[in-house]
Amino acid sequence: MTLKNSTIRIEEHAPLEQYTTFRLGASCEGMIHCQTPRQLEETIPYLIKEKKKFILIGGGSNLVVSDEPLDCYVVRYYTDKPVIEQNGTTLTVSGSTQLDHLAFFAAQRGLEGINCTTGIPGSVGGAIVGNAGAWGKQIGDVLTSVELISPQGVKKTARTEELQFTYRDSILKKTGDIVVSAVLSLQKGDVKALSEEREKILAERKSKHPDLRYEPCAGSFFRNIEPTSKAGKRQAAGWFLEEAGGKKLKVGGAVIYPKHANIIIKSDGCRSQDVYELSLQMARVVKEKFNLDLVREVCFVGKFHGMPSDVREIIW
Ligand SMILES: Cc1cc2nc3c(=O)[nH]c(=O)nc-3n(C[C@H](O)[C@H](O)[C@H](O)COP(=O)(O)OP(=O)(O)OC[C@H]3O[C@@H](n4cnc5c(N)ncnc54)[C@H](O)[C@@H]3O)c2cc1C
Repeated sequence: MTLKNSTIRIEEHAPLEQYTTFRLGASCEGMIHCQTPRQLEETIPYLIKEKKKFILIGGGSNLVVSDEPLDCYVVRYYTDKPVIEQNGTTLTVSGSTQLDHLAFFAAQRGLEGINCTTGIPGSVGGAIVGNAGAWGKQIGDVLTSVELISPQGVKKTARTEELQFTYRDSILKKTGDIVVSAVLSLQKGDVKALSEEREKILAERKSKHPDLRYEPCAGSFFRNIEPTSKAGKRQAAGWFLEEAGGKKLKVGGAVIYPKHANIIIKSDGCRSQDVYELSLQMARVVKEKFNLDLVREVCFVGKFHGMPSDVREIIW
């Protein structure tokens, strides 16, 4: 494969385990590393024109990629160098920018509204698609508009109202549109207060979440329970799992994080298939004890044994 832009790195047969926080997943046909909107805007139309099958990932922090190789290309839209422009309290940021880099940038400039995403791994694009956030606040709350590329390669702009943000969800999960960049409208705040809050959030995350260097995972596996459910108001899926005895479950090298029943971590010898099977067991124990259907937050990518064929796609 040859793209005109020589700054775009193409890695043939890239191992997905190197590009996911779970450290799981076989190879793909090739990985196209895009860091800037310009690189992405060249790559996507090219892949469509050449009829190359592809999927797009960001930081790979919400994925379980299969043990079987993927028969497609993977566009990785992610960068270590934040692509952010400031105009007063308005920020324009590339979808490839790391979410925590954005939170840090805003805190340092005394801009309030995005500090809740401090320490969440992954890209701004991935965060917008899944309306990432914490403590009742999420990225969709401060978003004004996004630049998108449709699965057909058409560039368009969408306003926040069109994205239908709800808890950990947006219309983008259905449309498959790619987030090229986003405009955020923030409030003036105090640099010192924001920085102190940031430090607090980081310390709390450190004490509650796995250390990705030694305990690879994809964060919370299931969404918290919707207010409309039998739980009455949104409650932690981890609580239901804990009550249903989920912490004792284990399949192969896939185990439950001892401090949090809703997080699967990879231990020695873990395969992606183990994670898939453990997640089924977790959902089953909660169904049996509470008659409650847990909804998955993490995306499976590729093929898993026993997965119903009617939901079999590359990402679901
Ligand atoms: C330790 C840990 C803690 C976490 N804590 C939280 C938390 O507190 N709150 C929270 O909400 N989440 C949390 N997560 C989950 C995860 O970090 C977020 O969901 C994150 O926003 C995913 O972004 P990503 O770039 O890694 O997406 P990926 O995992 O790469 O992809 C996820 C999905 O988004 C799509 N996608 C990615 N980039 C784009 C783009 N530019 N345009 C269109 N689609 C795209 C992919 O196709 C895929 O369907 C945590 C994860 C970990 C590992």
